[in-house]
Amino acid sequence: MLNYSIRQLGQALRHREFSASELTEALLQRIEQFNPALNAFISITPEQAREQASTADARLAANTGGPLTGIPLAHKDLFCTAGVRTTCGSRMLADFIAPYDAAIAERCQADGMVLLGKTNMDEFAMGSSNENSFFGAVRNPWDRQCVPGGSSGGSAAAVAARLVPVATGTDTGGSIRQPAAFTGVTGLKPTYGRVSRWGMVAFASSLDQGGMLARSAEDCALVLQAIAGFDARDSTSAQHAVPDYSATLDDDLHGLTIGLPKEYFSTGLDSDIEQRIQEAIDEYRKLGADFREISLPSSALAIPAYYVVAPAEASSNLARYDGVRYGYRCEHPRDLLDMYTRSRGEGFGTEVKRRIMIGTYALSAGYFDAYYLKAQQIRRLIREDFQNAFQEVDVILGPTTPTTAFALDTQTDDPVTMYLNDIYTVAVNLAGLPALSHPVGFVAQRPVGLQLIGNYFNEGRLLNSAHRYQQVTDWHQHLPPGCADSVHQ
Ligand code: GLN
Repeated sequence: MLNYSIRQLGQALRHREFSASELTEALLQRIEQFNPALNAFISITPEQAREQASTADARLAANTGGPLTGIPLAHKDLFCTAGVRTTCGSRMLADFIAPYDAAIAERCQADGMVLLGKTNMDEFAMGSSNENSFFGAVRNPWDRQCVPGGSSGGSAAAVAARLVPVATGTDTGGSIRQPAAFTGVTGLKPTYGRVSRWGMVAFASSLDQGGMLARSAEDCALVLQAIAGFDARDSTSAQHAVPDYSATLDDDLHGLTIGLPKEYFSTGLDSDIEQRIQEAIDEYRKLGADFREISLPSSALAIPAYYVVAPAEASSNLARYDGVRYGYRCEHPRDLLDMYTRSRGEGFGTEVKRRIMIGTYALSAGYFDAYYLKAQQIRRLIREDFQNAFQEVDVILGPTTPTTAFALDTQTDDPVTMYLNDIYTVAVNLAGLPALSHPVGFVAQRPVGLQLIGNYFNEGRLLNSAHRYQQVTDWHQHLPPGCADSVHQ
């Protein structure tokens, strides 16, 4: 059962091989067994899960369920969930209980999914290692001395360790794809606007996009179907029809042209990772895809532009945490100013403060043109690079990360090195494009991820390509060491 896909779980539920309640109990037991070592969850919600599972069982018994009814999931702890705390990995929101559900949570629940808990993350989704969480670092199931990537590290670790078949994530600069790569799971960052941001705690609003981490492209397709679509409550939500993602999963790859950006295969890329990517390219070629070298000349500017735009927007978004309306408030403030400064000083961690300071500086009167405006101009160049490339190719392929998962505590003192983990992922967010990471093998027992980038709203082609690859390979089926024992049915 551990390796059952969501489709297989759904079939088993509908054929009464086991009930949603039994499935929920089995996974809650696994979470209890593995979470103390992995720290993938901030909150576990057994009572709510049992209730939702019995509702799902009733729907299944009445044959009114859909493909996701009774399927367990976890939400990254920045999706608001009514009645269950939403911490965003921060002391600032450690006791915050939202009065409403995020759009993503609402849709998953409406389809009968069963929420097992909220996953650990870098504070306010800022980070690439999940070491910035107020609730402690998450461990990588493949090697517990290593980070799982971030900021959706808890979701990635939970899916990799088979604690849950799918978990939501958000990707502002790589936070779905990079942890997916580090933990050997499949992660999809949809087109900006494809999935509602309503009820998702904001980091950098023009870049943030919700998506999911699961074990296969097929599973991502089923969940995307549930969460994609227009939502009037999110002013940037796209009014674009949602296709049937499962219907095109098996499409032939003959006629597909894949671009290989020369900038993504240059210095800085670990040679063993490059080798795994080359092997995956060979598989795609056997499946019928054609390859062409392309150039994305502004690639080198993506990290500097991102680290102006993201902190600028963060500094503005995080101004709301002032100790007055909600969130952490310091003890015994002397006066109003003391309350503001100490609440923020005590409530936010180091990386969040660094970003607020960088962002405030970049937006200040004397520097706005030099930094923020310049970064927005670069952003346009990056978007144009991709649009030029998509004149020639259907999909762009490259590595997701320059290295595999690194050891805990090795990059925390060096923010710039940490920022470079996202060298292949941030440009996609600056352009608003969809992208997916899927596992393509191992280097020294650590998973390697391959990234596919699509044109706007072309998630279907990405899922189709990755699915065809996963039909002829089994990298996505490998279990991390020590995760195979325990509950089997
Ligand atoms: N690692 C990047 C950052 O720290 C991206 C984070 C994200 O996508 N949320 O900003």
